[in-house]
Amino acid sequence: MAIELEFTADQEAFRAAVRAFAQKEIAPIVAEMDEREEFPARTVRRMQEEGYFGVPTPEEYGGLGLGKVGYCILSEELGRVDASHAAIVGAHTSLGATPLLYFGTEEQKRRWLVPAAKGEKLLAFSLTEPGSGSDSGAVHTRATRDGEAWLLHGTKIYVTNGREADTVVVMAGNDLKLGANGGVTAFLVDKGTPGFSVGRCEKKMGLHGTSTAELILDEVRLGPEHVLGEVGRGFIVAMTALDVGRVSLAACSLGGMQAAATAALEFSQNRTQFGLPISEYEAIQFKLADMAMHVYALRSMVYQTAARQDRMGNDPKKWNHLERLEKTREAAIVKCLGSEWAVDVIDEALQIHGGLGYIRGTPIERAYRDARIGEIFEGTNEIQRIVIARDLLNRGL
Ligand SMILES: Cc1cc2nc3c(=O)[nH]c(=O)nc-3n(C[C@H](O)[C@H](O)[C@H](O)COP(=O)(O)OP(=O)(O)OC[C@H]3O[C@@H](n4cnc5c(N)ncnc54)[C@H](O)[C@@H]3O)c2cc1C
Repeated sequence: MAIELEFTADQEAFRAAVRAFAQKEIAPIVAEMDEREEFPARTVRRMQEEGYFGVPTPEEYGGLGLGKVGYCILSEELGRVDASHAAIVGAHTSLGATPLLYFGTEEQKRRWLVPAAKGEKLLAFSLTEPGSGSDSGAVHTRATRDGEAWLLHGTKIYVTNGREADTVVVMAGNDLKLGANGGVTAFLVDKGTPGFSVGRCEKKMGLHGTSTAELILDEVRLGPEHVLGEVGRGFIVAMTALDVGRVSLAACSLGGMQAAATAALEFSQNRTQFGLPISEYEAIQFKLADMAMHVYALRSMVYQTAARQDRMGNDPKKWNHLERLEKTREAAIVKCLGSEWAVDVIDEALQIHGGLGYIRGTPIERAYRDARIGEIFEGTNEIQRIVIARDLLNRGL
């Protein structure tokens, strides 16, 4: 097991730049965005201008070329200030751009990945359906051949960026009898394609800056150039992208819990009860110590996992079987632990704030609502445990 946790000067500089950006441009608008439940179009535009929608994408495809480590730095720093902004970048980058980078033809990369990485186009990813969530290989949306073309028909739900995206990576069943292996294909569906429309957008407990949209595909006709990866291999496309997404999600959890722990530490030193700052009481000190332990452990895990993915490179054909298994297990572990620790740490940080932590509009109250989804999306934590356990039963620890 290789440990690479020294950040380079470039990575440190990138972190400093994102931190300054998030403080200056995102922090001031977050409370109002949350209250109004609005997509933060202006700050998204600014992040696109800064290149933040192409951080792990190689420079030859219009990105910043900072790899998964750089991408996790971005996700952590955004997660510190606002999970919605991190989720918008995450849905686009992990789940929209990664499939193009890993499985796209050169032509597809030029047409869809380059503008996405340059921040000119926004991406989304659509796997979930009303009848197929955790059992994501059991899609009902069908893709039927019509000569060279494909016709997509079905309804997708819960698509992050679904309302705003210019292009959505959509999973559809080319042969529903075959299921996940051989029966699902990934398609690139552009906004404005006849038959493709946005339906209902959900109201949610948290992540108020993101859209969570229903997508309707009514006999959407696509040429063969819209097939991403091989026909029947869409499930692999989706799962490979989710391995990236799960690590960046953990990085966002890390940012959220670090911010909550910092706020709790400061609050505890300033809030006096019974004649002393509450930080003087052992009950509070132990909570703070637990938070620090979780932040420390998650930071090590996130960057070690991201560094492995960087070492593996961007061409899945070059990965060996063991590396793939290890990558998938690690991504599940880090997503599962990260999201659960974030919920626990933010809960304890809220507790330290007392009644103030429960007041609508405080950063800790928003962080508490935002963190909960980490245990559910990109595969619920029950599914992560299934992934980990299956691999353990095959290969041992
Ligand atoms: C805010 C938000 C954003 C999202 N963004 C996207 C997106 O961009 N693209 C996209 O495709 N999807 C997205 N999703 C969907 C998300 O990934 C799914 O909600 C999630 O995978 C769970 O599916 P489900 O909701 O159908 O729950 P179900 O699969 O119905 O699960 C219900 C419960 O049963 C448990 N369960 C299911 N099967 C098993 C089993 N075999 N063993 C033990 N427990 C099990 C689950 O863990 C869960 O606790 C988003 C969801 C939300 C809420």
